Amino acid sequence: MNYQKLKGTLDFFQEEATKLRFIEEKAKSVLKTFGFEEIITPIIEATDIFVRSSGDNSDIVTKEMYTFLDRGNRSITLRPEGTASVVRSFLENKLYVNSTLAKFYYCGPMFRYERPQAGRYRQFMQFGIEVFGEGGPFLEAEVIISAYKLLVALGIKGIKLKINTIGDFASRKDYADKLKTYFTGQIDDFCPDCKKRLEKNPLRILDCKVDSGKELVLKAPKIKDSLSLTSLNNFNEVTDILTTMAVPFQIDESLVRGLDYYTDTVFEFILDIPGELQGLAICAGGKYADLVKNFGGPDIPGIGYAFGVERIMSVMTSQDLFTNLTKQTDIVMICLDPASKKMGLQLANQLRDENMIVEMDYKNYSLKQQFKLADKVNPRYIIIIGEEERNNGMITIKNTKNNTQEKIKKEQLIAYTKGKI
Ligand code: AMP
Repeated sequence: MNYQKLKGTLDFFQEEATKLRFIEEKAKSVLKTFGFEEIITPIIEATDIFVRSSGDNSDIVTKEMYTFLDRGNRSITLRPEGTASVVRSFLENKLYVNSTLAKFYYCGPMFRYERPQAGRYRQFMQFGIEVFGEGGPFLEAEVIISAYKLLVALGIKGIKLKINTIGDFASRKDYADKLKTYFTGQIDDFCPDCKKRLEKNPLRILDCKVDSGKELVLKAPKIKDSLSLTSLNNFNEVTDILTTMAVPFQIDESLVRGLDYYTDTVFEFILDIPGELQGLAICAGGKYADLVKNFGGPDIPGIGYAFGVERIMSVMTSQDLFTNLTKQTDIVMICLDPASKKMGLQLANQLRDENMIVEMDYKNYSLKQQFKLADKVNPRYIIIIGEEERNNGMITIKNTKNNTQEKIKKEQLIAYTKGKI
């Protein structure tokens, strides 16, 4: 049998797995300073959850979901994004009862049947946040600031924040009507998706992967002419706060986001330095004023974003931002006979209780072979136990840095190594 991973999926092992977890841990530590707590939802949900949230004519729902019938004939979907599941959980568990602002982060795999290419996979990791509650422009700005701080903490250079507003429900409807009038009769040479979008969600024509560069699209009516005063003021305040906080941004009127549930502020972080990763989107998000309500819940607005972890990983690798990620072994035990191995095993586990990373040979390799194995993992110390040491209750400990060795009582081992590792 030919074992091969599925197209558009990745294996992470050794250094790559460490990189992934490093990003996750860093992100968590930054978000915790903002008071976020983790939420873990299932990877599978009833299909309806995603249809209802993303919109039944969104790309995700029409083309990209991994949907199947389970053995009970229920339609199940592997989550293509995190927001819908978090909203479902927020409502089902009534997480709005005890707090006026609920703040969550999540991390895990998402699944989309997309055309695999560099930076675009069918299973990928997202790290995201969702906040529920009314917080006005300060909350919107803080959410964006948290994403920005996270990228700064990771050390990523050349990031550009693009921001826009797509207005509240009424502004958006007015804008959609204007776009419909504008594009009607003019898009014969547009892609089939855009023709469908004209009827169902003309805003999406603006960020179509195929047609968005066309002159007709570039000259289309702008959202700012449809914004209600409330939406306009809100957006101005958000950008004011970002300016005060020295978070650089660029207003991009073509940014409308792929999912139907967004309202008001939307944003994206892209990489903006020359090279093959130029333009790569690494984080996207926005406000969704009506999603919770549309799910049948109370009228509570939400706002969130999601990072693509693999994309962050490739940017960080290209910018040489991972250092010291190779496996570090503190001590290797070299034991010269089975009885010494038993003593070695005991000592190894005492050292591990003190958080030291200890490895040993489990077979009956010769002293020379064991030294060869130890060389490969490059430990700080090598401990040698043979018949003589065992009989005297001693061990030989070799410092690999300065190539010195001494004999110590086995009871002294923890104290001896602790301060040094
Ligand atoms: P979205 O959920 O589409 O708003 O995407 C949020 C972020 O997830 C994007 O900015 C990407 O960094 C990442 N992302 C989305 N789709 C994929 C994919 N198919 N493969 C890898 N990363 C992705």
